[in-house]
Amino acid sequence: MAGIAIHGLTKRYRGNGGPGLAAVSDVSFDVADGEFVTLLGPSGCGKTTTLRLIAGFLGPDAGTIHAGGRMVSSPDHVVPPENRGMGMVFQNYAVWPHKTVYENVAFGLKLRRVPAADARSKVGDALALVNLSGLEGRLPGELSGGQQQRVALARSLVVEPGILLLDEPLSNLDAKLRERMRGELKELQRRTGITFVYVTHDQAEALALSDKIALMQHGRLVQLGTPREVYERPASREVADFMGLVNLVPATVSATDGARLTLKTAGGWTVQVESELRLRPGASAELALRPENVHLAAPDGSAQSLARVANSTFLGSIMEYEVALADGTLLRAQTHPSLKFAVGDHVAVRLDTARATVFDANGGAGPQREE
Ligand code: ATP
Repeated sequence: MAGIAIHGLTKRYRGNGGPGLAAVSDVSFDVADGEFVTLLGPSGCGKTTTLRLIAGFLGPDAGTIHAGGRMVSSPDHVVPPENRGMGMVFQNYAVWPHKTVYENVAFGLKLRRVPAADARSKVGDALALVNLSGLEGRLPGELSGGQQQRVALARSLVVEPGILLLDEPLSNLDAKLRERMRGELKELQRRTGITFVYVTHDQAEALALSDKIALMQHGRLVQLGTPREVYERPASREVADFMGLVNLVPATVSATDGARLTLKTAGGWTVQVESELRLRPGASAELALRPENVHLAAPDGSAQSLARVANSTFLGSIMEYEVALADGTLLRAQTHPSLKFAVGDHVAVRLDTARATVFDANGGAGPQREE
């Protein structure tokens, strides 16, 4: 069993003789055995530092890491990387150019003095897992980028780690291959049951791969949830913004009823939205709506909210429109490409408020105490 429990993890890099700013600050989360958890966030938010702390390349200034129930990191003691039962795969493949595929993959077994016959069968199994059977004799230079990354994967898998740590392993691959490898990685994780901790700054990759996303900003864990939770119920305006396109419509609270807020929004809508925020009537707020939850239609003459198309962009599988409401508020909407409007057209706008989030004046989604 190899789950991970991270508690109060803090790391400061020392610079110029003094302690620097915390690269990772009081981060706590659990990864269940066999779970695929992705550390996601913008550049510099502390993802790689967290992964290197889990791997044991760095020691924490505060906090602990348990792996498989065993304490592996604390400020007083760090179990070395090779004794943690973890494998690691990096962005730049890190395969040895002068060793064959077989020698690259067999390396970890050689270090562990695994008998030759046993090693041959384990290397064969690992190469089959990553679809590289038959290429044992090739040098890395004779392989594509995707195949080299699979060699790196096989090399980590061959020693049968309980936990695999992956740092942006697909980012050097072209878009098409990246998408294919994404599917392969997910399938590999399912088949082996290995616990995966994966680092990326690519939100689409995190949504596609993960059981859970640990979203980091400024060295802190700001949300831990399923991809759907993080996308549909972002914990803050900053998370909503990072996880894709979002309309932030200014609003004022006009009434409250338990978990239901009534808001008057820019554009003249009165909407009711479920929210954990405890706000008083008169409080400022923002209604956050993804573009796919702003629905456009041709006006039918009834009392509808109308807007004028300000911009349209054809993106292949979707159309993206920017529409201007009468008071100048701009909204982005995404529709099926069969729905065609021209710039200047009048359109009816409907908001799917069941899929909206409310943020308070500080950009939080609650829960908050009344002031
Ligand atoms: P990226 O996506 O760009 O790799 P990241 O989220 O993985 O970013 P980290 O590499 O963990 O971020 O860096 C977190 C912070 O710590 C950054 O401010 C970075 O500049 C700083 N940092 C990282 N490594 C060191 C180091 N060896 N010495 C000093 N500061 C460092």
